[in-house]
Amino acid sequence: MRQKIVAGNWKMNGSKESIVSLVSGLLKMKDSNSEVVIAPSFPYLSQVCDLVDASSLVLAAQNISHEVKGAYTGEVSASMLGDFGVKYVLLGHSERRSIYGETDAIVASKVKTALEFRLTPMLCIGETLEERQSNQTLAVCERQLQAVIALVGIESFEKMVVAYEPVWAIGTGLSASAEQAQEVHESIRAFLAKSSESVSQKVQILYGGSVKASTSSALFQMPDVDGALVGGASLDAEEFIAIIKAAG
Ligand code: PEP
Repeated sequence: MRQKIVAGNWKMNGSKESIVSLVSGLLKMKDSNSEVVIAPSFPYLSQVCDLVDASSLVLAAQNISHEVKGAYTGEVSASMLGDFGVKYVLLGHSERRSIYGETDAIVASKVKTALEFRLTPMLCIGETLEERQSNQTLAVCERQLQAVIALVGIESFEKMVVAYEPVWAIGTGLSASAEQAQEVHESIRAFLAKSSESVSQKVQILYGGSVKASTSSALFQMPDVDGALVGGASLDAEEFIAIIKAAG
C-alpha cells in the first residue's frame, strides 16, 4: 500500500502574518493517514519550520540549485534546506520549465543534487495543451522521466515522488478528470515498470492541476493516484484540510 501524500505548493505567495494564520489553521486538523506537506517560499522556511514544530506537517522547498555551493548569487543549495528540516523539494515544476527555461537536463541534475543531500525530489512532469491535443501526453511524460532515469538510475525513484501535472490544468481552474488522471498515472507506472517492476509499484504518483476539495474525492479513488500536489487551493486552510480529508 502506498501512503497518500497531499502537498501544498504556496508558490510566491504569503507574508509573515498570513503564514501564521495559514499554519495555525492547518494545525487545527486532526492527524491524517496521508502525509501532509507544505512548500513555502524560501524566506519563510525558517518561520514555518518553527511553527510546525513537532506536528506531523512536513516541509518542502520549491526549488534548489543544482550546484552544491559557491559563487551562485541568488541561488539556494540543497544542504541549506537540511538546516530547516526540509524533506521534499519540488523539481521540474512547469513554471520553472516554462518561465525559467529549466530543461530536462537541468531538472535531472537538480534531482541528482537533491538526492545527494538526502532531500526527496517531487519530480513534476506533464504536457501542455498543444501536446495533449496532438497525442503527445505520454511521449512528453516519458521523455521527462527518461532524462532523470538516465542520470540517477531507476532505483533512485524509490527515494522520489512523481507529480503528474498537466500544464493546461495548472492555475487554470481546469482540472483533469479523475479518469484522465488515472489513465496517465497508469501509463507512467507502466513506463517505470519497464526499468523496474518493484520500483514502479512503490513510487507515489501525485496529481496536480487545479485540485479542489470538490474534485479531490473522485481523484483519490483512482488506484494509481497516490495523492495531490495542490497550488491555489492550498492557500486556504479550510479548503486544503477538506482535500486532506478526502485523501483519507
Ligand atoms: C501547482 O502549482 O503545482 C498547482 C498544481 O497549482 P494549482 O493547484 O493552482 O493548479
